[in-house]
Amino acid sequence: MWKLILLALIIWLGFYIFRRNISDSKAPKTDENISLNDDVEDMVQCATCAVHLPRSEAFLVGGIFYCSELHIKRT
Ligand SMILES: [Zn+2]
Repeated sequence: MWKLILLALIIWLGFYIFRRNISDSKAPKTDENISLNDDVEDMVQCATCAVHLPRSEAFLVGGIFYCSELHIKRT
């Protein structure tokens, strides 16, 4: 009888550690996703060639985004 209880305890402990490892490995992943989302910049489209580029790299002229100075002059 004691062997059965000991066996059940070992199985329960195994599951407990297994579940803790899963939640531990999941936690950093969600943190990574949050930091990744923070790094993602707004994408804007060039009015001349329709290419998508990050807002910080785009040229904003009169409320219109351009990918390069050349494309500002073309319009
Ligand atoms: Zn362009």
